[in-house]
This record gives sequence, C-alpha cells and structure tokens, in this order.
Amino acid sequence: MIITIQSTEKIVTVNGVSARIWEGKTAGGIAVIAFITRIAVSEQEDSTEFERELQQHAAPSVEARAFPLRLILGEEQKPVPVKPCPRCGTPMQILLFLGIQPDFYVCPQCQIAFHLETLKPLATVIGR
Ligand SMILES: [Zn+2]
Repeated sequence: MIITIQSTEKIVTVNGVSARIWEGKTAGGIAVIAFITRIAVSEQEDSTEFERELQQHAAPSVEARAFPLRLILGEEQKPVPVKPCPRCGTPMQILLFLGIQPDFYVCPQCQIAFHLETLKPLATVIGR
C-alpha cells in the first residue's frame, strides 16, 4: 500500500505518546489521517534538509480536528456509551475536537453538538 501524507501543526496524545497528525491519500484516493510518533532518516541521507522541511506544517483540516473516535485503529478508549439525541431520539455520534479524547456528541439528524456529560446543546454543525 502506498500513501502520500502531509504534516499538520496538530499534535495529539495516542496511548500516552505524542503524535503529529499527518493527512493524505492512498494511491487509490482514500483520504487518511496518520498519527506519526517517530520518523527516522536513513544514515546515507542529509538529515538537515529533512529537518528543515519538517518545520513546514499545514493547518489541520476540519476532518482532522473533529475525527470520529471509532475510526482510530488500535486506539483503546474508555467506552463512551451511545446516547439518544435529547431532541429527536436518534443515536448520536461521538466526535473528537482538538484531541483524542471524545469531547461531544453530534446528532446526525439535528446536526447539533451536545456536551458529553451534560447533553447541553453546544453548537450547530456546519458541513460534514
Ligand atoms: Zn437529533
């Protein structure tokens, strides 16, 4: 499998280790997000050029900033119970915002984000 990825400025903690989020696509065009903890440069290469390029980071996309917890492969989380939307009763999705820990629920019908604990409406979701 071949993927092409670009570094973002977003650092998160995965399994207790800092990881930079890189975004990109597979050769077949599937959008992916990678959590990179280490990169090694071959000893035959000039690592100063690599380090210079590594300073260039893109802003993370909206998808990277609000990433569905269930899509992070191999990440063990405290299970967050699926709850019905307080307004319409539809089972809600659990979304991440600026971190790996789940921050809020989103109703796929109402497109409203609710606080994880209090279920207070926080924001209307714009775009998907
Ligand atoms: Zn709803």
